[in-house]
Amino acid sequence: MRLSGDVAIIGAGLIGLAVAHELARRGATVRVFERDLPGRAASWAGAGMLAPYTERMNDDALARLCAQSLALYPGFVADIEATSGVGVHLHLDGIVNAAFDDVRMDELRRDAERLRANGVACDVLDRSGAMLAEPSLGRHVFGAIAVEGEGAVDNRRLGRALTAACESAGVAIVRDARDVAVECDARRVLGVRSNWGFAGASHVVVAAGAWSASLPGLPVACEPPLEPIKGQMLALAMPRGFLKRTTWVPGAYLVPRDDGRLLVGATVERAGFDQRVTADGVRSLLDAALDAAPALGDFAVTETWAGLRPGTPDERPILGPTSVDGLILATGHYRNGILLTPVTARLIADFVERGDRAVLEPWLLARFEKEGAATKRMSKP
Ligand SMILES: Cc1cc2nc3c(=O)[nH]c(=O)nc-3n(C[C@H](O)[C@H](O)[C@H](O)COP(=O)(O)OP(=O)(O)OC[C@H]3O[C@@H](n4cnc5c(N)ncnc54)[C@H](O)[C@@H]3O)c2cc1C
Repeated sequence: MRLSGDVAIIGAGLIGLAVAHELARRGATVRVFERDLPGRAASWAGAGMLAPYTERMNDDALARLCAQSLALYPGFVADIEATSGVGVHLHLDGIVNAAFDDVRMDELRRDAERLRANGVACDVLDRSGAMLAEPSLGRHVFGAIAVEGEGAVDNRRLGRALTAACESAGVAIVRDARDVAVECDARRVLGVRSNWGFAGASHVVVAAGAWSASLPGLPVACEPPLEPIKGQMLALAMPRGFLKRTTWVPGAYLVPRDDGRLLVGATVERAGFDQRVTADGVRSLLDAALDAAPALGDFAVTETWAGLRPGTPDERPILGPTSVDGLILATGHYRNGILLTPVTARLIADFVERGDRAVLEPWLLARFEKEGAATKRMSKP
């Protein structure tokens, strides 16, 4: 079936762009409204880790969704790279999670057992195994587990690639859009108004990340309960190959990029929409990184930055229809939006194309109404 009709998407982060690309491929006419540059907000600030298992999720449904998205990643990336001509440096060579005391090592051993019982390949490494896997880890390392199949993508490159792929698939990306507002009547969505005028649409997808709740024109009943969760990060200039794989250490993660940067992340802070990089934030990241790998102390700090994760009360994304016909949410991806990009694009496109709602049940905004929105909602900043 080929889609017909106009879809308007608000927000050109990875989520909005991937949904736009998937819908355009299926035949829809798609416009994306972005007030800034595409792929520059949380989607740019993130570390790009694809780590559904190392993240240790207690929510089985969310863990399954993340694993499903990880499985989609190679095909998703191959498609976007082929259409855009931009390489996104996907590495699925595993993630090392290192322990520096026996209590933590016992926890990791239990994680490994649980993962293996669920069919995820995972090695338990003793001290020399850990140092062989990642020689840059300091001599106090106790051991590690190495989870296969996980990894990282260069999310900044993925943003550029998706932007180019969207444009070559005919998506109109409206940059620098001002005063973007949803327009609805009592029953259904009508389109999007901006400084460019009114654009009618049969479906409007709100993918404005941490800002999705404050969009003008969004009916109160359709406001997602979101809280911005700040994350600070920094980059070091690393000799090529110094760290081979994404490595978790107590208090930080280290993500090597192909261009020689080593990302160190990330703080998790409730600070409203504040995006400053602070001395405390940088210190906490450097302390954690240098405690685990003292040799990093000699490297130059080349960049620091902060971004806002779109957090929800239950840490699940909010995906799918609302009480207003045609008005769809694709937001609230919190810590795993880069990982969840391919599966989000597929679920939202399936819904627009076939009205497939059952599969979206765990992710609908309506779950908060059932549980009592008043108590579950986070305070709106
Ligand atoms: C420090 C940090 C580390 C992270 N690490 C990881 C990780 O390793 N792995 C992972 O999977 N996830 C990670 N995340 C989470 C991930 O980055 C986010 O979940 C994801 O990028 C959210 O994507 P998005 O497209 O919904 O939002 P965003 O990327 O924030 O995009 C939203 C877009 O909407 C636009 N917008 C907002 N309001 C309006 C408006 N009124 N009009 C027009 N446009 C508007 C914004 O300008 C922006 O471009 C991390 C996040 C941070 C901050």
